[in-house]
Amino acid sequence: MIKRIINFATAALIFMLAFSSTSLAALQPGGPSTNGNTNINSTLSYTDVVKILEDIERTSKGKVEVSTLDQYGKSEQGRSIYVAKLGTGPQKIWIQAQIHGNEKLVTEAALQLLKTYANSGEKDVERVLEEATLYFIPMYNPDGAEMNIRHTKLAESGKLIDLNRDWTLTGFEAVESKVVYAYWADVKPDFAIDLHHQGLKQVYGTNESTSFSLGISLAPDGPTLPGTGYNKITKQMMAYVYDELKDYGYTHIDRYQVGVNREKGIGYDIDIRGGVVSAMMMGLNYNNLNPEGHSHPAVFFETKGNTSDGSLGQKSNGYLTKQNYLALKSLVYGYVTGEVENVNENEWYKIPYYPLAGYLTDYAGTIPVNTDLGY
Ligand SMILES: [Zn+2]
Repeated sequence: MIKRIINFATAALIFMLAFSSTSLAALQPGGPSTNGNTNINSTLSYTDVVKILEDIERTSKGKVEVSTLDQYGKSEQGRSIYVAKLGTGPQKIWIQAQIHGNEKLVTEAALQLLKTYANSGEKDVERVLEEATLYFIPMYNPDGAEMNIRHTKLAESGKLIDLNRDWTLTGFEAVESKVVYAYWADVKPDFAIDLHHQGLKQVYGTNESTSFSLGISLAPDGPTLPGTGYNKITKQMMAYVYDELKDYGYTHIDRYQVGVNREKGIGYDIDIRGGVVSAMMMGLNYNNLNPEGHSHPAVFFETKGNTSDGSLGQKSNGYLTKQNYLALKSLVYGYVTGEVENVNENEWYKIPYYPLAGYLTDYAGTIPVNTDLGY
């Protein structure tokens, strides 16, 4: 009798082990990725970001105010877009990250900087908070972030929209654009920084992989920027950041360009008028929400790799986040103190770049570099 019970128990145990190991295998498909995609478990989800923002607000002793933009609307899938505000000064600085949902580390960098401003007693931090009020939007595109894709998806048609091509005179397609634009028109910032990731490229004339690119979305000295009044200051800003960061370890910085061809030794600058930071510089007035045509300088940073093409590795995430953090922190400081205005604008041309073949636009195709720009 006892032996039969043991046998039964053994059989049951074997059955359970067999069953549970199969079901565990079915439930846990994780482990090393086999399809070349980056493991994104180490990056922040929307829920993580909301929780971190609430933690920062709670421990900031009243310095940080976290809110949603719900009064203007929510994302296509109904998520709130969050903003964190801090500082008491008159200069308004806008910092936005992850307008492209598969560009993850920039959110981490923005939150780290917010945390520093919230908790640090450093002199340069205090200076910034006295001179400026900062508006952080750490996850501009929560739906894209959750789907791990660049775009947002329209709720009704399912159409994919690149939110960084959606600030156009003809109106916005995605609700996220309407929400953030309406908020921007209310805030009327003095300066904005936009954070991105890019694919792999190499610094011109070297075999070094670019870790960080400095970008102005309306090409300096190109078809559009000189007409905005921000042609000089944006070049000064980028030259300032380059000078501050070029000696930081493992950093290989260049100018943001597209259509780079190493054999021909050419690259293109972008001149996209429907980009968010471009529209900010052009003073977009949509639905008469910005009747005075308020505008301001704006630049963007590009960090190496994204989570869709598998070019991000957890090993490098730390330093990629750190270079973004440092670039942001130094540019904000340089802006509020006026140091940026002391930079020679021609230093912009000392940042490595591929010889310019032309401008890639969203309004006239590709414009060759030798075209008469009429000024
Ligand atoms: Zn991007």
